[in-house]
Amino acid sequence: MAFANGAGYYTLFGPGSVFFSVEAAGKAGALYYWKSSDNDRREYGGTIYEDRNGVFSFGEGQIGPPCAADSLGGCEMTIRGNIRPKGTILIGDYHTHPDLGQGASDFSKTDVEGLADAHAWGFVTHQTALES
Ligand SMILES: [Zn+2]
Repeated sequence: MAFANGAGYYTLFGPGSVFFSVEAAGKAGALYYWKSSDNDRREYGGTIYEDRNGVFSFGEGQIGPPCAADSLGGCEMTIRGNIRPKGTILIGDYHTHPDLGQGASDFSKTDVEGLADAHAWGFVTHQTALES
């Protein structure tokens, strides 16, 4: 499957691939980078956006610095909302929590507040979610 997207075509896998709901795009983005995140012990994250055709996708993964300790309190990540194709609308973001134990399955206070301020959707992947 491929169809026109202004300047190009949608890919079938990874950043820029097409989804028909925000949820599907968000989950796909967070899942796509989870293994790298867990291996590297860093958070990965990116944008979720809607394009002119009314379909959704996720932006390329942005990589946080190495987590400082064995808990998510030692992780940082700033997702730049402009890392997405021109002409698209920012809908939310996704990010990963490497398996550092405590707090890995929760949205942090910062996660929640950031999304509330932006009135945006947020998706997080973590080990427990992948096992269930
Ligand atoms: Zn988080």
